[in-house]
Amino acid sequence: MRKIVIVGGGAAGLQVATRLGRRLGKRGLAEIILVDRSPTHLWKPLLHEVAAGRIEPVVHHTSFALQAERHHFRFVQGELLAADRINRTISVAIAGTGDGVDGRVLSIAYDKLVLAVGGVTQYFGVPGAREHALTLDSVAKAEEVRDRVFTALRRRTALADASPQTPAAKVRVAIVGAGATGVQLAAQLRRTSSVLNRYGIHRLDPVTGVDICVIEASPAVVPGMGTRIAARVSEQLARLHIDVQCSARVTSVGASGLTIAGQAPMQADVVVWAAGIAAPAMLETFRFPVNAKGQIRVLPTLQSIEDEHIYAIGDCASCRPQDLDAELPTRAQVAYQQALYLAEALPRRLAGKQPAGFRYRDYGSLVALAGSSAIANLAATPGKDNGWHIEGKLAALLHHAVYRRHVLDIHGWGRALGMTLAQGLERLLAAGTRLH
Ligand SMILES: Cc1cc2nc3c(=O)[nH]c(=O)nc-3n(C[C@H](O)[C@H](O)[C@H](O)COP(=O)(O)OP(=O)(O)OC[C@H]3O[C@@H](n4cnc5c(N)ncnc54)[C@H](O)[C@@H]3O)c2cc1C
Repeated sequence: MRKIVIVGGGAAGLQVATRLGRRLGKRGLAEIILVDRSPTHLWKPLLHEVAAGRIEPVVHHTSFALQAERHHFRFVQGELLAADRINRTISVAIAGTGDGVDGRVLSIAYDKLVLAVGGVTQYFGVPGAREHALTLDSVAKAEEVRDRVFTALRRRTALADASPQTPAAKVRVAIVGAGATGVQLAAQLRRTSSVLNRYGIHRLDPVTGVDICVIEASPAVVPGMGTRIAARVSEQLARLHIDVQCSARVTSVGASGLTIAGQAPMQADVVVWAAGIAAPAMLETFRFPVNAKGQIRVLPTLQSIEDEHIYAIGDCASCRPQDLDAELPTRAQVAYQQALYLAEALPRRLAGKQPAGFRYRDYGSLVALAGSSAIANLAATPGKDNGWHIEGKLAALLHHAVYRRHVLDIHGWGRALGMTLAQGLERLLAAGTRLH
């Protein structure tokens, strides 16, 4: 039986594995194998909410093993190490029972290999950034941001309690990068500082006692989303008392803060780096043609330009569809559409038919700034202001709907409804923000 191996069960990979499992695995037409280093899937655009303590990851997790059993594919938990393209095998370090990898390396043969390993933070060679800044690359890293912010708030409160006559020092969180990830995290953290104050977790003033600043090298926030959405996001951030510095280049990061070109060093309790995405360095072992960010260059059929048996989708791929003269951005809607395309194209190919090339449709940009506030520009030409501009609750609802569609796609109506109810109840019965 032919084997389709998918590496990476994120926004793109889990869709492909689930759909191919239902279509080919169930009928014994092909063996579908999903490899991921993690035992569970969490939709990555939720990570800033994990970092701000807004959601409990465990409530939104999908177990790969359970998904595999239900949707007729096999799951292997392990880390992709390398590929042997001549013999069509990949080497996977199998996850052990502890935190790391137990040293067992499995060789998995494939007829078609789908690489969907996502992206990693790009530091642009800024000294100290890799060592000292936190990131939102994974659930564990997002939880580290949350822990550091909570600890800083509690510690500063304890210091203020110990010497009530001295004015309490502020907590400062510096976020590098004012793309959607950076601004959404800033807004969520502002909300979190208020909620934690309300429940007595810290006693700093939630606005004047907690400085949140966003530093962006481009002249405006949310680069690439158009001037109208940028202006509205700037206004909303100002309303939330978030300090935004545009055209500001971070030149170094240290244990106690960072330096911006031409300015005095900035002290910060927590520095989060949300300034760029590159492909994982491990992909270099494939020796494929890649772009400057290390993303695998693919044909309009999403096959590597050098190996027809290997496909790359989502953040690890450099894709320029026939009808566009720019590379597609690293966004969930690109990953989603590519996953849908492959779930149709691969069965066609196995049946000896030639699928048409992938076509991308940009549905617009959405930025959710905590609570019921969101800003959207829909059906616009990418980076232009010619679409429908909506804001407030309707935009927030749309933002939420994108996640719900993902849940619906991978779980089906019944389970998606159950999960939505359970998650809604959890939010209703708990404080809406983690308090520990
Ligand atoms: C905080 C945040 C907010 C975002 N908000 C938005 C948004 O509002 N709208 C939007 O369009 N996009 C958003 N994005 C971007 C979006 O999340 C990504 O574009 C999308 O998740 C890419 O999907 P993917 O499948 O390529 O990668 P991912 O979803 O990152 O999945 C990659 C998977 O590969 C696995 N993996 C990686 N390396 C290996 C390995 N060596 N071996 C085994 N497994 C491996 C990982 O465990 C993971 O499961 C956001 C991103 C972040 C971080």
